[in-house]
Amino acid sequence: MPDQICETVSGDFLQVATHYVEVAARKLGMEENSLKILKEPKRILIVSVPIRMDDGRVEVFRGFRVQHSLSRGPAKGGIRFHQDVDMEEVIALAMLMTWKCAVVDIPYGGAKGAVICNPKELSLGELERLTRRYVSEISIIIGPEKDIPAPDVNTNPQIMAWIMDTFSMMSGFSVPSVVTGKPLEVGGSYGRNEATGRGVVYTIEEACARLNINLAATTVAVQGFGNVGYVVAKSLHDLGCRVVAVSDSRGGIYCEDGLDPVEVLAFKEKTGRVQDYPDTTNITNAKLLTIDCDILVPAAMENQITVQNAPSVQARLIAEGANGPITAGADRILDERGITVIPDILANAGGVVVSYFEWVQGLQHFFWTNDEVNRQLRRRIIDSSRKVYDIKEKHGVSLRVAAYMLALDKVATAMKLRGLYP
Ligand code: NAD
Repeated sequence: MPDQICETVSGDFLQVATHYVEVAARKLGMEENSLKILKEPKRILIVSVPIRMDDGRVEVFRGFRVQHSLSRGPAKGGIRFHQDVDMEEVIALAMLMTWKCAVVDIPYGGAKGAVICNPKELSLGELERLTRRYVSEISIIIGPEKDIPAPDVNTNPQIMAWIMDTFSMMSGFSVPSVVTGKPLEVGGSYGRNEATGRGVVYTIEEACARLNINLAATTVAVQGFGNVGYVVAKSLHDLGCRVVAVSDSRGGIYCEDGLDPVEVLAFKEKTGRVQDYPDTTNITNAKLLTIDCDILVPAAMENQITVQNAPSVQARLIAEGANGPITAGADRILDERGITVIPDILANAGGVVVSYFEWVQGLQHFFWTNDEVNRQLRRRIIDSSRKVYDIKEKHGVSLRVAAYMLALDKVATAMKLRGLYP
């Protein structure tokens, strides 16, 4: 029985991703043939990325690009540069992208890419050469109509600009729509950087309305103070919430009276960390997850809430800013404890929604205002949240299973309409 999946540890992320597919497929009464196809990635490309280092040595890195599904449109997904990334993780992340795009109803399939490297040990020149060589290696499967990369952990707008330039050089003309998350000056979209965090906040607003929680009176803890975590912390602070704890990879801080995320960011930019911020208590990342608060937002890495710490979580509501921060075993414990979890494929879909807007703007060479982007983002996230809540209520399932049911149904229907080639 897939429901009785044993507890997973880091590395079994793919097993977790597949587990929810099986649960949702059973609830939908999906035929076995469709499920077989949906559980497998469509394409996996493994590339070798040789780079001349600054000292003259040649170093060879390994990269991947995985396309999970192309049934609803071109593939879409970020590129991660990380020393611990492996192919199974990239397959799981590509699969999540398929469901995420379907939940928020944008016409993409899922993809993900990665290079196994520690970007913190590379010079800027080495990082640029690594990016350009990786893109030239995966150029055989990417393109505006085929697969559109975007930023992920340790990749940023500058790296997206190099990707756009490399692909454009190989094409002989500018191809801005080959990648999203670019700087504004080379075809980026207003609101892209803040989009994921904003989307998380919209889903929290909707959940609070449903749970009769007065958002402005809540306390909040955010794990990860990067692109997603900072925007969530700042936006919730602006809405009147008390942000009592935040953290980065070096540890966290706690203050019962609440923190000002703007000031904490200024401190982090000066010192490289949030810890030792004045008038706060240093805490570990593990402690942050079980701290006394109403809303918890894990916005760092996978597999943070496990069967070990799930019984001690004190929050009433958890919004998954990160992809896969809760293991399947922990998810079941939280569900049994009546803690509402807004799943990653809904909570953090704001980024891919605005990536889609960027792609559309690039294809049309017509750019929207910041207000237009945010209005359209809010509408899509709220509409999708409502659809997920409707399924949850109709079938008596968790929000996560409901989101998977919405997504799987869309992808399976597209597959069925297209038929099986040949
Ligand atoms: P980021 O690199 O900007 O920030 C990550 C933050 O997490 C940093 O503050 C880092 O110090 C911290 N961190 C790293 N390891 C940690 C650990 N073990 N414990 C605690 N903190 C740790 O990345 P991001 O773009 O904010 O992405 C964060 C998560 O959100 C990732 O899981 C990513 O896949 C997911 N996500 C991001 C986007 C996006 O648009 N940026 C979209 C969807 C999902």
